Amino acid sequence: MERFDIKSAPYRQLTEYVASLGEKPFRAKQIYEWMHVKHVTSIDEMTNLSKNLREQLKEQCTFTVLKQIDVQISKQDGTRKYLFGLSDGNVIESVLMRYKHGNSVCISSQAGCRMGCRFCASTLDGLARNLTPAEMLEQIYRIGCDIGERISNVVVMGSGEPLDNYDNLLVFIRMLTDEHGLNISQRNLTVSTCGLVPRIRELADLKLQITLALSLHASTQEKRLKLMPIANKYDLSEVMEACDYYFAQTGRRMTFEYSLVGGVNDTDADAAELCSMLKGKNCHINLIPVNPIKERDYVQSDRAVVEAFKQKLERGGINVTVRREMGRDIDGACGQLRKRHMDQSK
Ligand code: SAH
Repeated sequence: MERFDIKSAPYRQLTEYVASLGEKPFRAKQIYEWMHVKHVTSIDEMTNLSKNLREQLKEQCTFTVLKQIDVQISKQDGTRKYLFGLSDGNVIESVLMRYKHGNSVCISSQAGCRMGCRFCASTLDGLARNLTPAEMLEQIYRIGCDIGERISNVVVMGSGEPLDNYDNLLVFIRMLTDEHGLNISQRNLTVSTCGLVPRIRELADLKLQITLALSLHASTQEKRLKLMPIANKYDLSEVMEACDYYFAQTGRRMTFEYSLVGGVNDTDADAAELCSMLKGKNCHINLIPVNPIKERDYVQSDRAVVEAFKQKLERGGINVTVRREMGRDIDGACGQLRKRHMDQSK
C-alpha cells in the first residue's frame, strides 16, 4: 500500500483521513497543528495523541522532514543560505532574507529545473524532480525553527519553475495560507515564473491575491530568445497578454524581473523599448544585476549603467527598484550553492 504523505495533505483531506481511521475530527486539528504550527520533526513528538494512533500513523504515512546539510550566513546583511537534503538524496537550497518589515524566505519549487535560462545555475544539470507540497513547506518551517522567529513573507523564487509544478504549488499555497497552519496572507506570497502562458491564465482565473512576478529579462522577442529558451514556446506578446489578463482577473499589480546582463540587455535602446512596452501598465519592475556563474561568460553591467537604466525607466514613468544584492558573499544566485555541493560530491 502506498504511504500517505501526511504533511502534504490540506486540512480537509487530513480530516477525512483521520476519520477513515475511526478517530474524532479534533484529532486532525491536533495533528495539523503539530506539523504546521509547531513543526515537530517526528510523529512521536505528537504527545497528545494515543500511542495506538501514533503507531498507526507511523505505519501508514511518510513524514517529510528536511535535513539541514549546510547554512551559510552573510557577513554583509545576515542573509542565510540553506542547503537541505531530501529523503531520496536530492538536495535543494532556500534563502532567508531579513528586512526591516520582517523575515522573508525564498524557496525552491523543484530539485533542478528544465527551463534552461542561459544565466541561471539551477538549470545546468536539468530537472531532477518536482517538490511535494510538504517539501516546499518544510523549507519555511526549518528556517523558522532555526532562527526562532516568525516568517512573514514567502517568495517562490528559488530553484525550479513553480508553474511547471503547478498542482503541488497550488496545494502548497492553500496550506501556507490556511488559518490552521502558518496562516500567511496571500498578499505576502510571491510566485515567480519564466512565463508559462497557459498556467498564468489558469492561475489568474483562481483570482488569488498572491503577487505574480514574471521573469522578463528582455524587451524584444529576439533578445528574450537568446536568454530564455522558453521564448521558443511562448512569444513575448503572448506572455505580456497573459500578464495583462492576470492583472485584470486579480487586480494584483504585476512585478517584472529584469536581470541586467552587461552588454546584452542593458543598453539605452533596451531601456527605451522596455519603457514603451510597460507604459501605462500598473506594474513594478525589479532590476537584478546578473550574478555571474562560472559556467557562462555573462558579466554584470557597470554600476553606472545600472543606475542610468533605472533612471531612464523612472523618467518613463515606470515603478522601478534595483534589487539589493543580498548575500553576494555566499553564493547568492539561484542554484549556485546546490550546484557546488553536487559537483563536490561527484
Ligand atoms: N523559474 C522562476 C524562478 C527563478 S529564480 C522564474 O523563472 O521566474 C528568480 C529570478 O532570478 C528569475 O527572474 C531568474 O531569471 C533570476 N535569475 C536566475 N539566475 C540568475 C543570475 N545568475 N543572475 C541574476 N538573476 C538570475
